Amino acid sequence: MLFKDITILDEDFKIQENINLITHGDKISYIGKDLPQGYRGEIYNGKNKVLLPGFFNTHSHIPMTLLRGYGEGLPLQRWLFEKMFPFEARLKPSDCYWGSLLGAMEMIKSGVVSYSDMYFNIEDIIRASKDSGLKANISHGTSSNPNNPNFKDSIAYKDTERMLEAVKKEASDKIKIDIGLHAEYTSNENLVRQVAAYAKEKNLIVHTHISETLSEHESCKEKYGLTPTEYFEKCGLLDNKVIGAHCVWIENEDFQIIKEKGLSPIHCVSSNLKLGSGFAPIKKMMDMGIEIGIGTDGASSNNNLNILEEMHISSLLIKGLNRDPQVMSPKEIIKIATINGARSQDRYDTGCLKVGNKADIIVFDMDKAHLQPVFDVLTNIIYSASGDDISLNMIDGEIVYKNGEFMTIDKEMVIYKSNEIKDRILKELV
Ligand SMILES: [Zn+2]
Repeated sequence: MLFKDITILDEDFKIQENINLITHGDKISYIGKDLPQGYRGEIYNGKNKVLLPGFFNTHSHIPMTLLRGYGEGLPLQRWLFEKMFPFEARLKPSDCYWGSLLGAMEMIKSGVVSYSDMYFNIEDIIRASKDSGLKANISHGTSSNPNNPNFKDSIAYKDTERMLEAVKKEASDKIKIDIGLHAEYTSNENLVRQVAAYAKEKNLIVHTHISETLSEHESCKEKYGLTPTEYFEKCGLLDNKVIGAHCVWIENEDFQIIKEKGLSPIHCVSSNLKLGSGFAPIKKMMDMGIEIGIGTDGASSNNNLNILEEMHISSLLIKGLNRDPQVMSPKEIIKIATINGARSQDRYDTGCLKVGNKADIIVFDMDKAHLQPVFDVLTNIIYSASGDDISLNMIDGEIVYKNGEFMTIDKEMVIYKSNEIKDRILKELV
């Protein structure tokens, strides 16, 4: 496809106007001012359009779209134990398939091309991801089971092994398998060490939650005399590539450990605000050169999977909290959502627009009242645009969304199925 005469964000994250960009198969094959001679493929008119690398939502629990808005207004522990856990216990694998497609629509519509997820029933989440066209790093979140202390007897281990074998046979690397360790407070040292060793043996990314709430952070210090970050380091977990969701309450030595170990902290601002957890010290991390990523978390605590909204809120809040309007420019937050996300997923052929990279592309339609006039394209995208302004989402060269229509997902069917599941589980819970 030729994106003709379009504005793009180049590989150095600079805006370039009047560019011709061509995709061939799953890759970007040409970027330049000149129109190549003899091009015969499909042409996309770039007038008033801006083409960016697609976004990476690097922390989610995608089937939790099915629990969106359930149990609102309860304090955290009651919300978890009285609402979330009983509902989740009734989720069948096929429910997770439909919930994942519901989440996939939201992500695609807000410009996401790839996501990192932690949940269970991962075979069905993978099937939904494949059907949607999204890239994904999928993990089964492991936690301690007192009746079953051996990690290799757990469902998480068995699922992960089975899915690792399954993706080996795939022609594309759109789906990657990570290993999930739910959190310090849901696991014991034995499990953490076993997961660390397994990740090392199989060269897997570890996806975990770190220091989300103050109480979790402080009780870890009481238990072990170490922060969750220090504790994970002691257990050898951080000798692997790790993505750590939240990192709201990290302190003192944690920063240096995160930097030295190359851990990717994932900023989940809406979820942290909505659950009253706090605000992660992302300015300090960024000042230290730590590469943070951004995620929506699950739709039960956010309550949406709109990555553009996360980018907007993050860039406003950090300025207000630091009383500094120059912290986190639009370019910086876009880098966090693109190239940083790609690297955190061990994907080095995407995350920016350059020849030879995968064609993971989104297009903003700037021909809207709220996006005009344009002094600075990225300023308008971060502070004025919404997901509705995205007119195209292309992943590995395949158009998955165009002008409000999903090319890979039957929207009406997914919404119908999601409500059917909700009604069934509510009846079961009576
Ligand atoms: Zn989470």
